[in-house]
Amino acid sequence: MHNFAKIAFFVTSFIVAVSLVEACFLARKARKEGKAYPWHEVWMSLADLAGRKLFALLPLSLATPIFSFAWEHRIFTVEINSALMVLLLFIGQEFCYYWYHRASHRIRFFWATHAVHHSPNELTLGTAYRLGWTGKLTGTAVFFAPLVWLGVRPEVVLAALSFNLLYQFWLHTTWIPKLGWFEYVFNTPSAHRVHHASNIDYLDANFGGVLVIFDRLFGTYVEERADEPCVYGLTTPTTTHNPIVNQFEHWVSLARDIASARNLWAAISYLALPPGWSPDGKGDTTENLRRQVQEAHAAAPVTNR
Ligand SMILES: [Zn+2]
Ligand SMILES: [Zn+2]
Repeated sequence: MHNFAKIAFFVTSFIVAVSLVEACFLARKARKEGKAYPWHEVWMSLADLAGRKLFALLPLSLATPIFSFAWEHRIFTVEINSALMVLLLFIGQEFCYYWYHRASHRIRFFWATHAVHHSPNELTLGTAYRLGWTGKLTGTAVFFAPLVWLGVRPEVVLAALSFNLLYQFWLHTTWIPKLGWFEYVFNTPSAHRVHHASNIDYLDANFGGVLVIFDRLFGTYVEERADEPCVYGLTTPTTTHNPIVNQFEHWVSLARDIASARNLWAAISYLALPPGWSPDGKGDTTENLRRQVQEAHAAAPVTNR
């Protein structure tokens, strides 16, 4: 086996093992509290991981042509051979990741894949490797192509992205508290809990990978509040226990909406505008959900406020 493949295999095995240990602890805790532990979430995450590994064997990834094109037209050739270059690569990769992740929430075409990562109704370490099967088919590599265009080798960009995702493993926990000064600069379990929450106040927040500085810079940082406990999952919770349905239900609903579109403009809008958009402007977008809460609050009798 190639060295990189060997390392990837061992790291993945370690991650799965740790997530299963966590699941056993959480299941024991749930049993003591007289609750049932949602083991189906564990199996669906494992099915996602296995399916993605199988998909990787097929030559369907758009990353290869996108990166090849960017590499052919690069303006420099950059060697990552000093601490300064590593730092610049890290910041550049984080910047690209921020916009990739923000687009994954705000453009329905990308959301159809990313919704799978947000589908668990519990936040556990297994969520970290439920990333959706269809990501490579949607051309998200385009968000990282600027680094290749600037002259960073495609394999270095992909390795940097792997480290970013590896860092994010420990963020998918409910049992690590806020971490003081660390919260100002780095993405933490607390910040990522907000990202995975479906509470109206927490939607579309904390898109960073390793850092939260771009969220703070671009106004998408939201702090976890003690008076607003996170409710995990999608605003319309996923009910299926079937991994195939889990992987494709957002594509099916997108296809249905496009098929029902009255004109080309509406069809394109379904693809390119945020999840929940509808031609009458009344769909469940984040903005509409927030407006509804504000209107309900304004209409409520004063004694109820
Ligand atoms: Zn997300
Ligand atoms: Zn996550």
